[in-house]
Amino acid sequence: MNLVLMGLPGAGKGTQAERIVEKYNIPHISTGDMFRAAMKEETELGMKAKSFMDQGQLVPDEVTIGIVRERLEKEDCKDGFLLDGFPRTVPQADALEQILEELGRKIDYVINVNVDQSILMERLTGRRICKDCGSTYHLVFNPPAKDGVCDKCGGELYQRADDNEETVGNRLEVNVKQSKPLLDFYESKGYLRNINGQQAIDKVFADIEELLGGQA
Ligand SMILES: [Zn+2]
Repeated sequence: MNLVLMGLPGAGKGTQAERIVEKYNIPHISTGDMFRAAMKEETELGMKAKSFMDQGQLVPDEVTIGIVRERLEKEDCKDGFLLDGFPRTVPQADALEQILEELGRKIDYVINVNVDQSILMERLTGRRICKDCGSTYHLVFNPPAKDGVCDKCGGELYQRADDNEETVGNRLEVNVKQSKPLLDFYESKGYLRNINGQQAIDKVFADIEELLGGQA
Protein backbone atom coordinates (compact mmCIF):
# COMPACT_ATOMS: atom_id res chain seq x y z
CA MET A 1 0.00 0.00 0.00
CA ASN A 2 1.86 3.04 -1.29
CA LEU A 3 0.14 6.21 -0.18
CA VAL A 4 0.62 9.96 -0.36
CA LEU A 5 -1.33 12.08 2.12
CA MET A 6 -2.31 15.65 1.33
CA GLY A 7 -4.33 18.33 3.09
CA LEU A 8 -4.16 22.00 3.98
CA PRO A 9 -3.04 23.13 7.45
CA GLY A 10 -5.84 22.44 9.92
CA ALA A 11 -7.43 19.73 7.79
CA GLY A 12 -6.58 17.07 10.38
CA LYS A 13 -4.00 15.31 8.24
CA GLY A 14 -1.69 14.50 11.17
CA THR A 15 -4.41 12.69 13.12
CA GLN A 16 -5.43 10.64 10.10
CA ALA A 17 -1.78 9.84 9.33
CA GLU A 18 -1.34 8.37 12.82
CA ARG A 19 -4.41 6.20 12.39
CA ILE A 20 -3.49 5.00 8.91
CA VAL A 21 0.03 3.89 9.86
CA GLU A 22 -1.26 2.17 12.98
CA LYS A 23 -4.04 0.25 11.23
CA TYR A 24 -2.13 -0.69 8.08
CA ASN A 25 1.27 -1.10 9.72
CA ILE A 26 3.22 0.99 7.23
CA PRO A 27 5.84 3.64 8.06
CA HIS A 28 4.82 7.30 8.27
CA ILE A 29 7.39 9.15 6.18
CA SER A 30 7.38 12.88 6.77
CA THR A 31 9.92 15.20 5.18
CA GLY A 32 11.14 16.53 8.51
CA ASP A 33 11.72 13.06 9.95
CA MET A 34 13.53 11.99 6.80
CA PHE A 35 15.90 14.95 6.90
CA ARG A 36 16.58 14.49 10.61
CA ALA A 37 17.32 10.77 10.14
CA ALA A 38 19.62 11.37 7.16
CA MET A 39 21.54 14.04 9.08
CA LYS A 40 21.79 11.89 12.18
CA GLU A 41 23.08 8.92 10.17
CA GLU A 42 25.44 11.37 8.44
CA THR A 43 24.69 9.95 4.99
CA GLU A 44 26.25 11.85 2.10
CA LEU A 45 22.90 13.38 1.18
CA GLY A 46 22.12 14.08 4.81
CA MET A 47 25.35 16.06 5.14
CA LYS A 48 24.56 17.95 1.92
CA ALA A 49 21.09 18.83 3.20
CA LYS A 50 22.61 19.97 6.47
CA SER A 51 25.08 22.29 4.77
CA PHE A 52 22.23 24.05 2.93
CA MET A 53 20.12 24.30 6.06
CA ASP A 54 23.05 25.61 8.12
CA GLN A 55 23.38 28.44 5.61
CA GLY A 56 19.67 29.13 5.88
CA GLN A 57 19.08 28.00 2.31
CA LEU A 58 16.37 25.78 0.87
CA VAL A 59 17.50 22.22 0.26
CA PRO A 60 17.56 21.71 -3.54
CA ASP A 61 15.16 19.20 -5.06
CA GLU A 62 17.91 16.80 -6.15
CA VAL A 63 19.07 16.40 -2.55
CA THR A 64 15.53 16.04 -1.19
CA ILE A 65 14.64 13.51 -3.87
CA GLY A 66 17.80 11.53 -3.17
CA ILE A 67 16.90 11.36 0.52
CA VAL A 68 13.37 10.20 -0.35
CA ARG A 69 14.81 7.51 -2.62
CA GLU A 70 17.11 6.20 0.13
CA ARG A 71 14.23 6.17 2.58
CA LEU A 72 11.86 4.29 0.27
CA GLU A 73 14.53 1.66 -0.42
CA LYS A 74 14.64 0.71 3.27
CA GLU A 75 13.31 -2.64 4.43
CA ASP A 76 10.37 -1.25 6.40
CA CYS A 77 8.87 0.23 3.22
CA LYS A 78 8.61 -3.08 1.40
CA ASP A 79 4.90 -3.50 2.22
CA GLY A 80 4.10 0.16 1.68
CA PHE A 81 4.47 3.64 3.10
CA LEU A 82 2.59 6.80 3.85
CA LEU A 83 4.32 9.88 2.45
CA ASP A 84 3.40 13.11 4.24
CA GLY A 85 4.80 16.50 3.20
CA PHE A 86 6.42 15.12 0.05
CA PRO A 87 6.00 15.73 -2.82
CA ARG A 88 5.24 19.44 -2.57
CA THR A 89 5.69 20.33 -6.24
CA VAL A 90 5.00 18.74 -9.61
CA PRO A 91 8.74 18.26 -10.37
CA GLN A 92 9.05 16.41 -7.05
CA ALA A 93 5.99 14.33 -7.94
CA ASP A 94 7.54 13.49 -11.29
CA ALA A 95 10.73 12.44 -9.53
CA LEU A 96 8.74 10.27 -7.14
CA GLU A 97 7.08 8.52 -10.08
CA GLN A 98 10.51 7.78 -11.47
CA ILE A 99 11.89 6.46 -8.17
CA LEU A 100 8.90 4.17 -7.71
CA GLU A 101 9.15 2.92 -11.27
CA GLU A 102 12.80 2.02 -10.67
CA LEU A 103 11.72 0.16 -7.54
CA GLY A 104 9.00 -1.62 -9.53
CA ARG A 105 6.20 0.04 -7.61
CA LYS A 106 3.56 2.67 -7.97
CA ILE A 107 1.39 4.94 -5.88
CA ASP A 108 -1.94 3.34 -4.99
CA TYR A 109 -3.72 6.43 -3.76
CA VAL A 110 -3.15 10.08 -3.07
CA ILE A 111 -5.52 10.82 -0.20
CA ASN A 112 -6.52 14.47 0.03
CA VAL A 113 -8.23 15.44 3.28
CA ASN A 114 -10.49 18.15 1.95
CA VAL A 115 -11.87 20.97 4.11
CA ASP A 116 -13.35 24.34 3.05
CA GLN A 117 -11.05 27.29 3.63
CA SER A 118 -13.65 29.09 5.77
CA ILE A 119 -13.74 26.12 8.14
CA LEU A 120 -9.95 25.92 8.21
CA MET A 121 -9.90 29.61 9.20
CA GLU A 122 -12.23 28.86 12.10
CA ARG A 123 -10.13 25.90 13.18
CA LEU A 124 -6.79 27.69 12.86
CA THR A 125 -7.71 31.03 14.43
CA GLY A 126 -9.61 29.58 17.43
CA ARG A 127 -6.61 28.67 19.56
CA ARG A 128 -6.18 30.54 22.83
CA ILE A 129 -3.30 30.18 25.26
CA CYS A 130 -3.05 30.98 28.96
CA LYS A 131 -0.57 33.76 29.71
CA ASP A 132 0.28 32.24 33.07
CA CYS A 133 0.39 28.45 32.72
CA GLY A 134 0.51 27.94 28.93
CA SER A 135 -2.60 25.71 28.78
CA THR A 136 -4.20 25.75 25.36
CA TYR A 137 -7.89 26.03 24.50
CA HIS A 138 -9.93 26.27 21.33
CA LEU A 139 -12.99 28.50 20.99
CA VAL A 140 -14.89 25.77 19.12
CA PHE A 141 -13.36 22.43 20.08
CA ASN A 142 -12.16 22.98 23.64
CA PRO A 143 -13.54 26.26 25.00
CA PRO A 144 -12.75 27.45 28.54
CA ALA A 145 -15.67 27.46 31.01
CA LYS A 146 -15.50 31.26 31.18
CA ASP A 147 -14.63 33.43 28.16
CA GLY A 148 -11.01 34.53 28.12
CA VAL A 149 -10.12 32.89 31.44
CA CYS A 150 -8.00 29.78 32.04
CA ASP A 151 -9.93 26.93 33.73
CA LYS A 152 -6.81 25.69 35.47
CA CYS A 153 -5.26 28.82 36.96
CA GLY A 154 -7.61 31.75 36.22
CA GLY A 155 -4.97 33.36 33.98
CA GLU A 156 -5.82 35.52 30.97
CA LEU A 157 -6.12 33.78 27.59
CA TYR A 158 -4.54 35.28 24.47
CA GLN A 159 -4.24 34.55 20.75
CA ARG A 160 -0.76 34.03 19.35
CA ALA A 161 0.20 36.36 16.51
CA ASP A 162 0.66 33.30 14.27
CA ASP A 163 -2.98 32.42 14.81
CA ASN A 164 -4.55 35.72 13.71
CA GLU A 165 -6.81 35.91 10.67
CA GLU A 166 -4.35 37.70 8.41
CA THR A 167 -1.41 35.37 9.09
CA VAL A 168 -3.55 32.25 8.86
CA GLY A 169 -5.27 33.54 5.70
CA ASN A 170 -1.90 34.16 4.04
CA ARG A 171 -0.61 30.77 5.07
CA LEU A 172 -3.69 29.07 3.62
CA GLU A 173 -3.44 31.03 0.36
CA VAL A 174 0.19 30.01 -0.11
CA ASN A 175 -0.69 26.38 0.56
CA VAL A 176 -3.69 26.41 -1.79
CA LYS A 177 -1.58 27.89 -4.58
CA GLN A 178 1.20 25.40 -4.00
CA SER A 179 -1.00 22.31 -3.78
CA LYS A 180 -3.34 23.05 -6.72
CA PRO A 181 -0.93 21.95 -9.51
CA LEU A 182 -0.02 18.87 -7.49
CA LEU A 183 -3.67 17.91 -6.99
CA ASP A 184 -4.28 18.41 -10.73
CA PHE A 185 -1.25 16.25 -11.51
CA TYR A 186 -2.47 13.38 -9.35
CA GLU A 187 -6.03 13.78 -10.59
CA SER A 188 -4.75 13.36 -14.16
CA LYS A 189 -2.85 10.22 -13.11
CA GLY A 190 -6.02 8.79 -11.58
CA TYR A 191 -4.50 8.50 -8.06
CA LEU A 192 -6.39 11.29 -6.33
CA ARG A 193 -9.11 10.49 -3.80
CA ASN A 194 -10.79 13.36 -1.98
CA ILE A 195 -11.92 12.53 1.54
CA ASN A 196 -14.40 14.84 3.27
CA GLY A 197 -12.44 16.23 6.21
CA GLN A 198 -15.38 18.25 7.51
CA GLN A 199 -16.74 15.30 9.44
CA ALA A 200 -15.95 13.91 12.89
CA ILE A 201 -12.40 12.46 13.11
CA ASP A 202 -13.76 8.89 13.35
CA LYS A 203 -15.96 9.35 10.29
CA VAL A 204 -13.06 10.78 8.26
CA PHE A 205 -11.01 7.72 9.15
CA ALA A 206 -13.94 5.40 8.37
CA ASP A 207 -14.05 6.89 4.87
CA ILE A 208 -10.30 6.29 4.48
CA GLU A 209 -10.73 2.70 5.68
CA GLU A 210 -13.50 2.21 3.16
CA LEU A 211 -11.16 3.39 0.43
CA LEU A 212 -8.22 1.22 1.55
CA GLY A 213 -10.20 -1.59 3.13
CA GLY A 214 -9.72 -4.28 0.53
CA GLN A 215 -5.95 -3.96 0.76
CA ALA A 216 -5.54 -4.23 4.53
ZN1 LIG B 1 -3.61 28.94 33.09
